[in-house]
Amino acid sequence: MSKLSLDRILQSQGFGTRKYCRTLVEDGEVAVNGVVHDSYKTPVDTESLVLTVFDEEWVYREHVYIALHKPANFECSRKPSHHPGVLTLLPEQFTWRDVQPVGRLDHDTTGMLLMSDDGPFIHAQSSPKRHVPKVYQATTAEPVTDELVAQLLAGVQLHDEPAPLAAQVCIRRGEHQLEIVLEQGKYHQVKRMLAAAGNHCSALHRSAIGGLELSALGLEEGEWCFLDAAQLALL
Ligand code: URA
Repeated sequence: MSKLSLDRILQSQGFGTRKYCRTLVEDGEVAVNGVVHDSYKTPVDTESLVLTVFDEEWVYREHVYIALHKPANFECSRKPSHHPGVLTLLPEQFTWRDVQPVGRLDHDTTGMLLMSDDGPFIHAQSSPKRHVPKVYQATTAEPVTDELVAQLLAGVQLHDEPAPLAAQVCIRRGEHQLEIVLEQGKYHQVKRMLAAAGNHCSALHRSAIGGLELSALGLEEGEWCFLDAAQLALL
C-alpha cells in the first residue's frame, strides 16, 4: 500500500504542475473513488484508485504501457520536424508523464508502436542484447523472388555494419508482399536490407512485437490501448 497526497498523485498521473493540481482539487474538480475531495494534502491510498477529473475517470497507474497503431505521417522523434509527433495521438496527460516511444518507426511506417513512461522498461526493451522478434509486412517495388527471400535469410551487408544482417524469418506473402522478422532494430533496417538485396520497400507495417500481435488488440490506425501484465509478458 502506498499513500500520497492528492496533489502529488495528480501530478504523477500527468494532470499538470503541482500548483495546477492543487487548484483542480480546491475547485472541486477531483473525485477519489467517486467522492469529491477538496483537500489536496489528505493522503490517498494509490491501491485500486480511480480518479475523476473534469468528470472523466482515470485509473491510477504508477507507470503506463501503451500500444499505439501508428498511422503514416507521424514522427516518433521527441522533437518532430516535418510531421506531427506520435504523442499528439495520445491524451495530453501522457506528454506530462513523459511517455516516450520504445524504439522508433519511420514516419511513413505504420503499425505497432510501444510507448511508456517507465525508463527501465524502455531501456530494457530497446537494448541491443534483447532479441525480441519484430514482424514487418513490407510492400516491395519489384516482385518478391525466391532469390530475394534466400538473400535476406542468408544475410545482406549494410555499409555501416560490421557483419551481414539476416532476417530470422522471411516469407513471400504476395507478388509484392514480404513478411520479414528481425531480431535487431537497426536504423531503417528493413528498407536498407531490401535495398541491399536489390529491391525497394515502398510501404512498411509492423504487425507484431514478440508474441503480441497488433491484430489481437483490435486497434484502428491512430488508436491506442493500455497493455496489461499478460500482454507485456508476450514481449
Ligand atoms: N525498418 C525500417 O526500415 N523502418 C522502420 O520503421 C522499421 C524497421
